[in-house]
Amino acid sequence: MTKVTYKSDIEIAQEASIEKISTICEQLQLEEEDWEPYGKYKAKLSLSLFDKLRTKKDGKVILVTSINPTPAGEGKSTVTVGLGQALNAIGEKAIVALREPSLGPSMGLKGGAAGGGYSQVIPMEDINLHFTGDIHAITTANNALAAFIDNHIHRGNELKIDPRKIVWKRVLDMNDRALRQVVVGLGGPLQGVPREDGFDITVASEVMAIFCLASDMNDLKRRLAAMVIGYTYDHEPVTVADLKVEGALTLLLKDALAPNLVQTLENTPAIIHGGPFANIAHGCNSIIATKLAAKLGDYVVTEAGFGADLGAEKFLNIKARYAQIKPSAVVIVATARALKMHGGAKKDELASENLVALKAGMANLQKHIETIQAFGLPLVVAVNHFVNDHEEEIDYILSWCQEQGVKAERAEVWLKGGAGGEALARTVLAITESEENHFAPLYTLDQSLEEKITIIAQKVYGASRVDFSPKALVQLKEFEHNGWGTLPVCMAKSQYSLSDDPTKLGRPTDFTITVRELKASVGAGFIVALTGNVMTMPGLPKHPAALQMDVTEDGKAKGLF
Ligand code: ADP
Repeated sequence: MTKVTYKSDIEIAQEASIEKISTICEQLQLEEEDWEPYGKYKAKLSLSLFDKLRTKKDGKVILVTSINPTPAGEGKSTVTVGLGQALNAIGEKAIVALREPSLGPSMGLKGGAAGGGYSQVIPMEDINLHFTGDIHAITTANNALAAFIDNHIHRGNELKIDPRKIVWKRVLDMNDRALRQVVVGLGGPLQGVPREDGFDITVASEVMAIFCLASDMNDLKRRLAAMVIGYTYDHEPVTVADLKVEGALTLLLKDALAPNLVQTLENTPAIIHGGPFANIAHGCNSIIATKLAAKLGDYVVTEAGFGADLGAEKFLNIKARYAQIKPSAVVIVATARALKMHGGAKKDELASENLVALKAGMANLQKHIETIQAFGLPLVVAVNHFVNDHEEEIDYILSWCQEQGVKAERAEVWLKGGAGGEALARTVLAITESEENHFAPLYTLDQSLEEKITIIAQKVYGASRVDFSPKALVQLKEFEHNGWGTLPVCMAKSQYSLSDDPTKLGRPTDFTITVRELKASVGAGFIVALTGNVMTMPGLPKHPAALQMDVTEDGKAKGLF
């Protein structure tokens, strides 16, 4: 038997018939003043489009989420791109809205995040590397603030900032565990005031979160001004407004705030803007990108990171609330391999047929379906089909969904592009029309922080209780006292499990979520609750994806996938 080989993502992307970005802009009926080219294949869209399109009815928002993934990812970006292409293929006007990939996972485990197979956004090398420089601008704004803080203390510390109580960290868009805890200002009086500091990955920073939640330039500035950088010796919060640098920080971000337009392999317009992680941040592309895509198209297909316990929960409780978005439907991506892993199959045996493990693993999908139903939203399960998947397994997943009264479709968008997602596209259209939509966030803002965290832990994760560490209990009181109790919460939790223990797969029951620490992201407008051992600066694996990467003499990228 001859073995079929498939082209790699980068090979497919490099062979694509890419249109000039001016052609995509024409397709969107944009005029010259509405966009600015960044080379031949990328553009920044003008924020003035919001004003221009004020009276146009918003398109429908379709949210793509998934079950708890394997470390390789279950194909949310791939299905998001494929569904966008499929909607266009059947005659609808759809736009894809995605996050910009972080260099941390690109160099580390995942090797890129621009979709896969015949459902990718291009130029994928640019998107996976420096793109239009937005993440660098965010890193710079974040670190400029760190420099202003240390300079303020060095120059006499008029605000009486306690160097031991600074909560602002420096950032880098790379997995670099050696920088998690550092000491700065060593070397004597001319080098500043020594203090303990640390680095987070840029995509976990509050500046990234604000960038993604801001509605316009003024809102960006207002949110940056409200960021709490530390506390005085009397334990009063110190903000960016106290340091008077919100103008400078906004200036550093002004070009980045314009969303980036690219295209998919089938020339469907795609807006890629902002990229917070979904485990340690809120996990959604910018509100500006989603809302502009809704103005420019009749459908926006957008993704929220990791499983529905993380990205979708935060999309629905945080982003949708701030942006006043009512999603029209949710697509839950599931794969046979991840379901088998949840049912007890070993990670190196996921390719083998194993109906016993698959059946046991369905409980994980079941929980995510219940979560989306708890938000009152119509949903469809997309079974992301891998070429070596076993037919009986796919059939089992589809018939299991049917028995539960849940719509499900096979998605072959990786192999066939939009053509492999037409059935999914038709079902999505049907449920946005025919099914009831009672969308509401799971908690109200007047509930206490403790109540909000407990609601998420119980209703979304299925936990029986929440334990707060002594430090978190003190912080809960302080934050309520500071008037931050009415903010939503952004949970930081392992992506691999519904619990805060990555080894508990499937649908764990009778478990406790441990909140070890809280962080006030007052500018972003949420309180981060750190659970289990989740880290805000990841490390690289033993064999990082970077080992496969290279570039030819004429500048062609190799090894990105
Ligand atoms: P997620 O967004 O859920 O993290 P991605 O869409 O980025 O997942 O996909 C992760 C990786 O898996 C990519 O390299 C992609 O090419 C690959 N992939 C996704 N779907 C399929 C599929 N059906 N067959 C083969 N590879 C796939």
